[in-house]
Parts: sequence; C-alpha cells; structure tokens
Amino acid sequence: MSTLTCPACGKTGLAEDSAACPRCSCELGELAKVSGAAREEFQKSLRLLRQGSLGESLAHAEVSWTLRHSREAAQAGFVAAIALGGSSSWRLWERRLAETGLRANGPS
Ligand SMILES: [Zn+2]
Repeated sequence: MSTLTCPACGKTGLAEDSAACPRCSCELGELAKVSGAAREEFQKSLRLLRQGSLGESLAHAEVSWTLRHSREAAQAGFVAAIALGGSSSWRLWERRLAETGLRANGPS
C-alpha cells in the first residue's frame, strides 16, 4: 500500500485511507481518490507492458504520471519507452525517474 503526502503541509507517510492530515487537518479524501486512480493506471500500464503492448502501456504510464508523480509510474513509463526504442520519449521518462529519485532521497 502506498502512502500519501499532505499537499498542504508536506507531511509524508499518511495512510491512503486517511480522511484528513493529522498535522494540519487538510482533507485528503480527494487526494486519496487521485492516488488510487494513479495506481490503477500504473497497474494497467504494467499489465500491457507484460503483454508487449508498449504504446498502450506508455499511454497509461503517462496518465498515471499526470495524476501522481510517483516513482512506479516513472519506472513503468521509462521501461515502456526504452522498449519502444527509436524516437520514443525515454529521455523524458529518465528525467522523471531522476526527479522521483531525488525526491525520495531528499528532505521530506
Ligand atoms: Zn498536513
């Protein structure tokens, strides 16, 4: 289960079903919905990747990334883009991957 980061105060590690942030009381219901949708898109992307539907996989990774800048979405997009090869957008995904990596290691 992934966790949420409060959009208001930046508190991390909140349970995905939290109704509100325990620190600042910011409502998290909508955020949790977006987060859940982002994960569904990521899972679709992964399934399509396994089936070899690279273009579709990449499209779902893109939707997932748009909903939530998660490392898993960046990884799925990166792998799909690399597998597509040629003029694909793998450099973009590489940057996104680096971005999520930096954030994961940075101060929270
Ligand atoms: Zn908060």
